[in-house]
Amino acid sequence: THFGFKTVNEEEKWKKVHEVFETVAEKYDVMNDAMSLGIHRIWKDIFIHRLAPTHGTKLLDVAGGTGDISFRYIDYLKNLGPAPENKQSSVTVSDINQAMLDVGKLRAQRQGYTKELSGVDVQWLCSDAEKLSLPDDSFTAYTIAFGIRNCTHIDKVLEEAYRVLAPGGRFMCLEFSQLPNSGMQWLYDQYSFQVIPVLGQLIAGQWKPYQYLVESIRQFPDQEKFKGMIEDAGFRQVTYENLTFGVVAIHSGFKI
Ligand code: SAM
Repeated sequence: THFGFKTVNEEEKWKKVHEVFETVAEKYDVMNDAMSLGIHRIWKDIFIHRLAPTHGTKLLDVAGGTGDISFRYIDYLKNLGPAPENKQSSVTVSDINQAMLDVGKLRAQRQGYTKELSGVDVQWLCSDAEKLSLPDDSFTAYTIAFGIRNCTHIDKVLEEAYRVLAPGGRFMCLEFSQLPNSGMQWLYDQYSFQVIPVLGQLIAGQWKPYQYLVESIRQFPDQEKFKGMIEDAGFRQVTYENLTFGVVAIHSGFKI
């Protein structure tokens, strides 16, 4: 394990490094709240309600970061009541960034999102969404929230999602999207291009990453185009739902 062979000094250092990452992660949360006026929490809640997992669901949460989606999934299962013995649920939180996962693990321990306390088997995996180090047909659900936009090859991500899902498995994506109404898109553009980088500078002390964020949102394919890409990867019954006028969209598809 991580701690097994560490000297006291190394452990001190590990703690310090993770304090730094935790601070970054906290700032990231504050930024998310500031930019979306707290609405990202509601989007994530709705996302899990649409997935509607049941006891026995085997979820892969890709680009899972510090666990926002996975923790909501566990809460949802908890609210269903006790699981029958033969229906073990699980979640694998995967992300390309080990530091994000480490912060997630720390939070999971602090907030009780462990197998001992929640009954849900929780695994953490450092892996690239475009090339998952996971076997074929191994999950019943796949989620990716605010993650696919950052990937270089969306088609590869979708292909991998299709590969690791078992037949009958469901793909779900929560991502920023385009507003269908051009007047509203104009208003939203004003807000994103004028306000978000300023918030980034004020809260996180950085302008550039938030300018990049806004640009990447604008460049991401619109709802219909993205739907087509999901279909091209082989998914069936592909649908989407706009939230907050299309600021974000939930896409869903099945491997049949
Ligand atoms: N899903 C979480 C949430 O909704 O709060 C985190 C979203 S965060 C905006 C984006 C995450 O995508 C980051 O944790 C980043 O490390 C991860 N990421 C970026 N490129 C990736 C890739 N190619 N494969 C897997 N994860 C990736």
